[in-house]
Amino acid sequence: MPKIPVKLVDWSDIVEWSWGLAKKIEESNYIPDVVIAISRGGYVPARLLCDFLGVENLLSIQSQHWTEAAKKGERAIIKFEYVIDLSDMKALLVDDIVDTGDSVILAKEYILRNWKPKELRTAALQWISSVAKIKPDYYFMEVREWYWFQYPWTRLEDVTQFIKRILESTYKESGKSTWRVEELTKEFKEWYGIEVDKRYIDEAIKMLIKKRVIKAINNELVYLPG
Ligand code: AMP
Repeated sequence: MPKIPVKLVDWSDIVEWSWGLAKKIEESNYIPDVVIAISRGGYVPARLLCDFLGVENLLSIQSQHWTEAAKKGERAIIKFEYVIDLSDMKALLVDDIVDTGDSVILAKEYILRNWKPKELRTAALQWISSVAKIKPDYYFMEVREWYWFQYPWTRLEDVTQFIKRILESTYKESGKSTWRVEELTKEFKEWYGIEVDKRYIDEAIKMLIKKRVIKAINNELVYLPG
């Protein structure tokens, strides 16, 4: 049993899910004049929806909540606030997943108050119905059991944080600080239940060395606590 339930999502899944989401929007006869991506997770689905729905106007708003993969931040905030006039446009606000729902709620409120679109509807590839505070107007997949979905656009970032968490937690529990790469790779599989391309593990290790979380000594990695 993995310690953190993770599902690996591929680029081909993203295309299929975005395609399915576009069909649902089309069938409802909602024709947005502008698509608004919630940054950063909504970028790729929003761009694909523009393609599949034939929308030329694409904007973005950064609503930040989760500071680390599978680890919630305190509260959602709008980064880089700006004001534009959308009063003659129907808008579609897009995110990858609605988990707590805080990011979509905040972005929606901000846009309605400050950008004032003629109409605003929300869309996400996935909606975690068991925990979300909001149901998007459109979603491709309803998820009932919570997972961290490892999307292809956060692979390196997630793998880096996942490895860091193994190092921190093992050190706290047992004082172990020296690792071989193969041992860490095996532990990664056990903790998260997924396998990623070796180059992501290698690059994540490089990043952690750069950030002085670990140090490479001979053929081993040494965790540097604190
Ligand atoms: P939330 O405000 O909790 O609905 O989520 C904000 C953002 O965090 C989402 O748009 C995703 O980019 C990311 N996120 C939250 N939960 C998950 C999850 N279970 N799997 C993958 N990404 C997630």
